[in-house]
Amino acid sequence: MSETPKGFDTLAVHAGAQPDPTTGARATPIYQTTSFVFDDVDHAASLFGLQAFGNIYTRITNPTTDVLEKRVAALEGGTAALAVASGHSAQLLAFHTLMSPGCNIVASKRLYGGSINQLSHSFKNFGWEVKWAENLDSGSFKKAIDENTRAVFIESLANPGGIVMDIEAIAQVAHEAGVPLIVDNTMATPYLCKPINHGADIVLHSLTKFMGGHGNSMGGAIVDAGSFDWAASGNYPMLTEPRPEYNGIVLNDTFGGMAFAICCRVLGLRDLGPAISPNNAFMLLTGIETLALRMQRHSDNALKVAEFLQGHSAVEWVSYAGLPNDPFNNLKQKYCPKGAGAVFTFGLKGGYDAGINLVKNLELFSHLANIGDTRSLIIHPASTTHRQLTDEHKIAAGAGPDVVRISIGIEDPNDIIADLNQALSR
Ligand SMILES: *Cc1c(COP(=O)(O)O)cnc(C)c1O
Repeated sequence: MSETPKGFDTLAVHAGAQPDPTTGARATPIYQTTSFVFDDVDHAASLFGLQAFGNIYTRITNPTTDVLEKRVAALEGGTAALAVASGHSAQLLAFHTLMSPGCNIVASKRLYGGSINQLSHSFKNFGWEVKWAENLDSGSFKKAIDENTRAVFIESLANPGGIVMDIEAIAQVAHEAGVPLIVDNTMATPYLCKPINHGADIVLHSLTKFMGGHGNSMGGAIVDAGSFDWAASGNYPMLTEPRPEYNGIVLNDTFGGMAFAICCRVLGLRDLGPAISPNNAFMLLTGIETLALRMQRHSDNALKVAEFLQGHSAVEWVSYAGLPNDPFNNLKQKYCPKGAGAVFTFGLKGGYDAGINLVKNLELFSHLANIGDTRSLIIHPASTTHRQLTDEHKIAAGAGPDVVRISIGIEDPNDIIADLNQALSR
């Protein structure tokens, strides 16, 4: 492609891909192979020594996955990306690169329920701790940071829906403390929000959701903004100390602005192993081609549904940043000008029982634990996704007993509203 910078919609279709050099195949082929033949012994040695880029084994790189990685990096405006088996494994590899026993992550309480579990329980086995920011403001993050903090972790559009985080203010607090800001951009996608433009150093994705968009394949991604100075603090030894297994090279010195993504690959993915299958990489890549069309339609539909719910007599409250009177609407205008996404929460006047009845009576909506499908989805977080949390943490995470969460699909908005209307009136 020529040097003129391409628009988002063009990158979503083309970035990272070219017709297959051997067959001319226009769609990216699924390279369903575990391993790759070396040109000769010197080539093999240079690949293993990180002196040349190339394919060795699909746990570490694969040509189909490579196109997905380049595309996600281009859409987020990062220097490089790593695609992995799931959103959770992207988190694991990112944290593994930054943390050692005794270190902590300062995190928002408004996170995906699975992320709250991962941070509070499984990470203890690594000797890693989590410190929760008391509220959503940057001051709460500042208060939680101490000398053992190695990163700040937030979602851009935050779970379980309807919240926009002040990325710039939180990035500033993180940078003043000498730590990177990690933003999980799963719910917004780079179509609605570009965290790197607002100071994020690392962007994470569950590609399983809106990026793939069809509810058919798991995947995750780590995007390196290339902006963070890993050497300044001396707190990130995986990046700044010589690696004996790679002839003593220092990843930060050798790979500069791509060092974090490369470190997650050649140390984290190499040793912990959550590789994405080439078939899933292909499915996700195909989904990303229509990302701009889908996200606009998801957001436009969600706004119509939120307006309908807000005017309904059975509804107590609606939390959707796209509504002009919503407390997060100012942040939405700044960070997600094109739309506030598909996922939001509302409460019914009838409380817990009314929520359960609504879920039962809907016909078009699917009752399941996912977001970001083409189909409209509904769930009652307190009894499902956020069930394992303590009551206190449930409420802090926005998943109290009366809360219903919906992920609005790309169906005809009149049909979505009609389904809600019939279920609410029963
Ligand atoms: C689903 C999700 C994850 C976890 O991703 P998986 O692909 O299910 O492992 C992380 N963060 C957010 C915001 C999610 O929605």
